Amino acid sequence: MQLELPLQEKLLEIATLERNGDVGLQPEASEEAKELAKLRKKLGRTRDASASAQLAVDDMELEIRRIQEDERKLRRRLDDDRRQLGAATDPTTRKDLQHDLHSSQVRLQNLTSEMQEAHNEVHALRANRDLYRQQLGELEVEVEKAQRAADAVPLDTTVEDARGRVEKLKGELPADILAAYEERRSENGIGAAKFNGRSCGGCHIMLPVAEASRIRQAPATEVPECGECGSYLIRGRA
Ligand SMILES: [Zn+2]
Repeated sequence: MQLELPLQEKLLEIATLERNGDVGLQPEASEEAKELAKLRKKLGRTRDASASAQLAVDDMELEIRRIQEDERKLRRRLDDDRRQLGAATDPTTRKDLQHDLHSSQVRLQNLTSEMQEAHNEVHALRANRDLYRQQLGELEVEVEKAQRAADAVPLDTTVEDARGRVEKLKGELPADILAAYEERRSENGIGAAKFNGRSCGGCHIMLPVAEASRIRQAPATEVPECGECGSYLIRGRA
């Protein structure tokens, strides 16, 4: 292959960029973006937990109101029983009233201990809910901070830059040279490589002395090939 020296440099740059794998890869997410995603997930979980904790409080408060309502009804019933007992003279009626009075008192006692339990429970549930609320508040601040940090990271344009650079360089090479390079690259995955005087930069094999010397002494505008891997060897200006 015959190629002007400046174009040889361009061919080497194309081959190097393409081999580095910078072309065609997705840019990796920044550490800041990963941290933000992690915190957002945590925020979502904490929000769910906080909502569940609030629901548990609501349920228990409803239960307390139910007990209070039952207590009110029972007290009214006790008052009624006592009032009727004060007036009743018939033994059977008095016996029924006393029986009802007694069972209502027992039920009221049960309700009182139920109420005590519900109060203890709602107290614990509210403490739990408050803890989640506090965590949620702290997390929201953290997420905001992480968002600002992620926004401050400049977009990674390395990949775009490399791709654009390769396209530009390819536009500057003669079509037949480019075709020869592409064909060689499709065969050995390298195409063109730097020759450092002894070994090929593509396969990294130390070439036999005679071959290395032949390559070194080839005319400057000639592009020799590696006897091992077939890559076009660019010798550079030195
Ligand atoms: Zn080679």
